[in-house]
Amino acid sequence: MFDPETLARPNVRNLKPYASARDEFSGDAQIWLDANESPFENGLNRYPDPHQRELKAAIAKLKSVSPEQIFLGNGSDEAIDLLVRAFCEPRQDAIITLPPTYGMYGVCAAINDVETIEVPLTPDFQIDMPSLLPELLNDQAKLIFLCSPNNPSGNLLRSEDILQVLELFQGIVVVDEAYIDFAEAESSTRILDEFPNLVVLQTFSKAWGMAGLRLGMAFANRDIIRILNRIKPPYNINTLTQKAVLENLTKQKSVTENIAKIVSEKYRLIEALKQKPGCLEIFPSDANFVLARFQNADGLYKRLCAKGIVVRNRSGVVPDALRITVGTKRENENLMNCLIRK
Ligand SMILES: *Cc1c(COP(=O)(O)O)cnc(C)c1O
Repeated sequence: MFDPETLARPNVRNLKPYASARDEFSGDAQIWLDANESPFENGLNRYPDPHQRELKAAIAKLKSVSPEQIFLGNGSDEAIDLLVRAFCEPRQDAIITLPPTYGMYGVCAAINDVETIEVPLTPDFQIDMPSLLPELLNDQAKLIFLCSPNNPSGNLLRSEDILQVLELFQGIVVVDEAYIDFAEAESSTRILDEFPNLVVLQTFSKAWGMAGLRLGMAFANRDIIRILNRIKPPYNINTLTQKAVLENLTKQKSVTENIAKIVSEKYRLIEALKQKPGCLEIFPSDANFVLARFQNADGLYKRLCAKGIVVRNRSGVVPDALRITVGTKRENENLMNCLIRK
């Protein structure tokens, strides 16, 4: 039997969480004098719901999970940080990452003085199972981060490999699905009930177009969610964010349309890149960006910057590679013109 409490740090296991005013009394009342708020109404003078009940109910419906399986963070970056802090004892435990991948996993571990064990992806950016197997049995390792679709390569990881990691690892498997809405693949949320050690991260920052609001989601077994709730800052999701996301959840149709536009623009961008003589390799993408290798990537990066077009130079992690986010039709055409004319 997997029990996340036995995996949590002892201080977290025994923590008595901060009880906010809104935890001690949450019923109906006329006069609120319990939280030292201002009594003058301006729409923002009250603290937000620390448990985001209304928002979680709406997200639960959208994602076909129960509200108790949802943690909401100030971006999924907050969920990543809280997972490290809940389960990894500084200077003792470790996380496993599969580079090249999202940098925040390693940064959060480093901030908390937790070691990162790196098991590089294969040349086609899939999990290197033979190299990973011994690390999955390393009992210092408490978390493994699988990013699918992976940033910066753009591809989905094979679902059989994700399943195998879930079956073999005795720690927590975090599947980061920041780009899943662009991919033709089912979310790992559908197997939440089968795997009590699974955490799925999603975000409103990419396909939903709300990066400025900062709202990330972690879906997991309710025992893991309970631990994250115990250590989160009480009012981590502000009133404006809760309201704005609730409103935007009703606009799913336009989000779906925008996703379709981005995906078709991505294929146009890929076709244009294939025509560019200096483009050495284009990696398959299931996300809203394309990673490609170029002759003199650093020079091209600078030339684009000089023309006011900023892409991400990833040549430090994948040789000669630039990561290009898919923009509007006009933005992409602008980029393509600069690429072709040199
Ligand atoms: C963009 C991104 C996130 C999103 O982070 P937020 O804090 O929710 O904006 C998470 N993981 C990966 C891999 C990303 O690329």
